[in-house]
Amino acid sequence: MARQFFVGGNFKMNPVTRDQKKALIKILNDATVDQNVEVVISPPALYLIPVKDSLRSDFKVAAQNCYVKDSGAFTGEISPRQLVDAGVPYVILGHSERRTLFGETSKLVADKTQAAIAAGLSVILCVGETLEEREAGKTKQVVEAQLTPVVAALKEADWSKVVVAYEPVWAIGTGKVATSAQAQEAHADIRAYLASAVSSAVAEGTRIIYGGSVNAGNCKELGSQKDVDGFLVGGASLKPEFVNIVNAKQA
Ligand code: PEP
Repeated sequence: MARQFFVGGNFKMNPVTRDQKKALIKILNDATVDQNVEVVISPPALYLIPVKDSLRSDFKVAAQNCYVKDSGAFTGEISPRQLVDAGVPYVILGHSERRTLFGETSKLVADKTQAAIAAGLSVILCVGETLEEREAGKTKQVVEAQLTPVVAALKEADWSKVVVAYEPVWAIGTGKVATSAQAQEAHADIRAYLASAVSSAVAEGTRIIYGGSVNAGNCKELGSQKDVDGFLVGGASLKPEFVNIVNAKQA
């Protein structure tokens, strides 16, 4: 079965005011978009419920993070069950900003992924190498090391709830996009790893999306690659050009 193209918009800690948030949602609600694409918008946690309630019904929302526990004394955290109860279907886990700025290890990301899926969420699981690691020829090794604890934590059936986002750290928010050949190579390696570590059915069925300075100008070329099943978009998801990215597969 063909993998449905997926475009996520990661607002990160933006926008800063509710008026700006409303203006952004209006642009999305008024847009004409390719109905074959799964679109998921990830606003800050504070805005998840109002965005979900005001967003067009063919777009979904994602949290940008969650904890591993259902409830308890974990100040500042949000639980997977709370997200499910709030009607939030997706969560982004393992974003490089969580890994580097907040010290999240691949083991914690795997535990969160397992907890999120057990609660009923789908997960946008982010992996990717730094520039130093790429230049040392370690991209494949680094990405596999990030995926290995997730493979150990999940059952084969859980993978239907996972979208893998390959996001080279050097391309996130820098304007330095990976070439389509670099993206295709990394995605093919991830698919081959899933085939050997999980199963060929999971490798075939799992969407692997690219993130890192995707914009209206580069999305068509990247999206034409065989193993690129969509995008996770940061900066450009705050601009009207996000609509062009959602429509990347249209002629
Ligand atoms: C991201 O935050 O996931 C991302 C890819 O950001 P940007 O598009 O701004 O590089």
